[in-house]
Amino acid sequence: MDGISGLMATYSLLKNSKDVDITIFERGNTLETRKCPILLKKTDKCLKCKTCAIMEGVAGAGAFSDGKYNITTEFGGWLQDIREDTLAYIEKADSILVENGATKDRFMPNDELKKRCLQFDLHMLQSECKHLGTDANFDTMVKMVQSIEKMGGNRVSILTNFDVGNVEDIDNGKKVIYKKVEDNLEKYDKEFDIIIFATGRAGSHFFSRWCKEHGVGLKNNQVDVGVRVELPSSIWEEFEKKIYEPKIVYRTKQYGDVCRMFCFNGRGEVVTENTEGILTVNGHAYKSEEKKTKNTNFAILSTTRFIEPFNQPIEYARYVAGLANMISGGSVIVQRLGDLELGRRTDLKRLKQSTVQPTLKGAVPGDLSLCMPKRQLDNIIETLHALDRLAPGTANYDTLLYGIECKYYGARPEADEKFKLSGKDNYFAIGDGAGFTRSLGQAAAQGLMVADTILEEMK
Ligand SMILES: Cc1cc2nc3c(=O)[nH]c(=O)nc-3n(C[C@H](O)[C@H](O)[C@H](O)COP(=O)(O)OP(=O)(O)OC[C@H]3O[C@@H](n4cnc5c(N)ncnc54)[C@H](O)[C@@H]3O)c2cc1C
Repeated sequence: MDGISGLMATYSLLKNSKDVDITIFERGNTLETRKCPILLKKTDKCLKCKTCAIMEGVAGAGAFSDGKYNITTEFGGWLQDIREDTLAYIEKADSILVENGATKDRFMPNDELKKRCLQFDLHMLQSECKHLGTDANFDTMVKMVQSIEKMGGNRVSILTNFDVGNVEDIDNGKKVIYKKVEDNLEKYDKEFDIIIFATGRAGSHFFSRWCKEHGVGLKNNQVDVGVRVELPSSIWEEFEKKIYEPKIVYRTKQYGDVCRMFCFNGRGEVVTENTEGILTVNGHAYKSEEKKTKNTNFAILSTTRFIEPFNQPIEYARYVAGLANMISGGSVIVQRLGDLELGRRTDLKRLKQSTVQPTLKGAVPGDLSLCMPKRQLDNIIETLHALDRLAPGTANYDTLLYGIECKYYGARPEADEKFKLSGKDNYFAIGDGAGFTRSLGQAAAQGLMVADTILEEMK
């Protein structure tokens, strides 16, 4: 559980106390051995590795992200609903990243672009944004892990390829960890005083199951389902240059649903991610010029909040994404917007004729209308046309749509404002897996908040 939230908590605890002894359990590989065969260009198709190098391993899902750190509480999670000091902690996390080599450069909010968006009923969220780039972000994570190992010495252990299957209290109030080995659980030979769950999205299933089995209440019924859009970089170039990432919200006229354009990767690549066997799409972008592509990609997701009796939003999103995997023969689908609107499949011949060529070579040309629910699909098409008025060319015939992209949020456990699980002694939960955050900045901030609580209680 070694994503940015867990790393930040560890960094702060080691830096501020000589009395802590920390063990990190991570089901993925070390940073150096996290290798996605697709990124290495060894294959076009996801091989469904035992652990997904993009999502799992030391430094978590952020390791190969393009490292956009948004310094804001306008989006990126829900910490600000619980803690007023959220922004201060995001800044604190940023200063730790800077200590470990991250750039100090920030893109600043742009009121003129915001005003232009409003003229088309598009609502741009404003933030100071740092764009590290996939390459520089990775270097920062390497340095951060080295700093942790140097500061911690024998007071810190990072155990990789260790899939936590259970955590239990024992009679003396201590906690023990069980490793999942195929269908069995093996007890790890050490006892702990405090547990921090920092499982990320890859472990949200595990965490919610643990909560249910241990009597911790859960809530959250939101799910975002949509596509990754890929088009020529010139179409959104002005935004890329001025603010780097346009995050735009649109309420569709047909259903009154919220659609979000976000996760912008200027001149980047579309990638697949494997979350516990289900393939979805995402994107990233390198900082160095020679790795940049001619295309830009971003997500458009339609938000659905379910009400009673349905309470399985994660399963719903996995089901929709699973359908796309099924009809693409175990991959993800790519379709031209024009074909989708004409009600026909994009096939290999049509894709070859496309003026926009996919950066994700393994995506299978197909028909998104066969797997995405009508409501979400209508919302996405309407949003693309709304964005087209702002940045003409967005809804061109050859705009590529990859599916499915979905963001489901870990069900949020019942916890106090220090993120201690209700009814449990010395259990904390942080980050995306616990449904408090959905960004690097907020996950990092929450790790620092919990570290401060533990340090205070140690006094
Ligand atoms: C390709 C991609 C690009 C992204 N780009 C951005 C971006 O530019 N800006 C941004 O703000 N956000 C971005 N995100 C989202 C961001 O990465 C997450 O919000 C952030 O990583 C959440 O941090 P976390 O610590 O909560 O969890 P994670 O980073 O997901 O880390 C959780 C870790 O726990 C491990 N784990 C889970 N369960 C277990 C278990 N049972 N046993 C042992 N280990 C376990 C996982 O293997 C993982 O390494 C991106 C995500 C992806 C996938």
